[in-house]
Amino acid sequence: MEPTTSATRVLDNYIGGAWGPAQAGERLPVVNPADGSILAEVPLSDARELDRAVDAARAALPEWRAVSVIERARRLFDLRNGLDARREELARSVTAEMGKTIGDARAEVARMIEMVEAACAIPTTMQGRIAEDVSRNVDCETVRQPVGVCAAIAPFNFPAMVPFWFLPFAIGCGNAFVLKPSEQVPMTQQIAFEVLAGLELPPGVVNLVNGGREVVEGILEHPGIDAVSFVGSAPVARIVYERAAATGKRVQALGGAKNHMVAMPDAVVARAVEGIIGSAFGAAGQRCMAGSVLVTVGEASERLLPALVERTRELSVGAGLDEAVDVGPVISAAACERIIGAVSRGVEAGAELLVDGRDPGANGAGDLAAGGSYVGPTIVAGVTPDSELVREEIFGPVLTVIEVATLEEAIATVNASRFGNGVSIFTESGAAVRRFRHDVQAGMVGVNIGVAAPVAFFPFSGWKDSFRGDLHAHGPDAVEFFTRKKTVTSRWFGDGEGSGAYFVER
Ligand code: NAD
Repeated sequence: MEPTTSATRVLDNYIGGAWGPAQAGERLPVVNPADGSILAEVPLSDARELDRAVDAARAALPEWRAVSVIERARRLFDLRNGLDARREELARSVTAEMGKTIGDARAEVARMIEMVEAACAIPTTMQGRIAEDVSRNVDCETVRQPVGVCAAIAPFNFPAMVPFWFLPFAIGCGNAFVLKPSEQVPMTQQIAFEVLAGLELPPGVVNLVNGGREVVEGILEHPGIDAVSFVGSAPVARIVYERAAATGKRVQALGGAKNHMVAMPDAVVARAVEGIIGSAFGAAGQRCMAGSVLVTVGEASERLLPALVERTRELSVGAGLDEAVDVGPVISAAACERIIGAVSRGVEAGAELLVDGRDPGANGAGDLAAGGSYVGPTIVAGVTPDSELVREEIFGPVLTVIEVATLEEAIATVNASRFGNGVSIFTESGAAVRRFRHDVQAGMVGVNIGVAAPVAFFPFSGWKDSFRGDLHAHGPDAVEFFTRKKTVTSRWFGDGEGSGAYFVER
């Protein structure tokens, strides 16, 4: 890693409508995983910074709530256009700080913008409901009101998109918002907040507090925060869920994953191989929807594996900004070591390496920068169900293959995982699909699709250890999460002073 110089940019927080340095002294370098260079320094804000942000957010609530829902939607249109105007800059920032290929980063930014587009429907989606005559002359109606101050805590793997699973829906519903991005990838949200700063929202409607664990713990305890959205690893999701609930907050906590892909013998080989490779090795396997276990049923293994291995060996590894590269670096040197360690332990325990990516430079992948964190695509077979490579989230470009005889066994293998985020099946059989989608214990199912991440208009719904809470991210769930329902039961007599003369009571 290069040393920090006095010219290194220090990132600011955005609190109460103004950019400014964090009061706390500690900072972390933001490292480009492609070459180890230092892109900036991020402050590790302390609890006082969070207090300032929450105070600003609470102060903004009355004014923001008084802005009509149509006007709030117009601000979201402006946000959408502002992000669209800077989409290439956002994508390049994602690649620089996170490592994924520029093509992947562009797709992420497109999904980020799609979130804002979905939130623009808020004048419709936030509507309540009414029933007349629930009793004689009595009506009952439910309206939706903002929850208050909502905070979000984001992971490193989607620096642009994941914060926007929450932000546009939260502010569209009339809430104020505090974001803590991942301290590993804080730069892309600086651009997003520059766009937000240009919208002339009341000061404090959106706030950006950079930091790590101290800010997270502050959010969980803070009496001024009403709702918490978390995305990250399963152990932290559990902590966030339990502690935020203990202080009476509304909470949704999206955790880690171990996604399975099931290949049936009748899968269309070329398409299935393409889908499996995109899922396992896209973003260097660092997606919560990455397929990391391939379950082949019957003859599927002999039909698919040769082509899968051959295509995987052809993938190029390198810096994500190079348009020709297929697999970028993983997030850090520590991640690199962890992933290679997991593969090596599997091999020591008897796993067979069909493709070994532990030393991608040696595989002739070209010029890999010495300071970069590279692991090449890796395929492992011959493991037992209790292997770490089957049970644990590796979060790198590693695919483990399991062979079974029947669809029932494949479904049992999927359901044995403690995670339940995404799952895919590759087949041309409608009956197999019907059985699979009915019986698998996972929130998101792909049919002949390797990464079945729902579009913004549908909820992102993990199960089991992949999710804690009840309302999921984006789609209709977002409006449920970011509003409180109020139900009014009313009757009118019509014989009050002055009005009774005009109509007769029934
Ligand atoms: P992480 O859990 O290490 O960090 C997530 C956030 O929590 C960061 O903002 C970090 O500052 C904070 N944090 C980390 N450790 C903490 C602690 N001990 N106490 C309080 N706060 C803490 O996750 P990550 O490595 O940034 O992201 C990768 C993980 O996120 C993977 O497990 C991946 O599957 C998961 N993920 C899940 C989804 C989903 O939708 N389910 C989406 C994206 C990523």
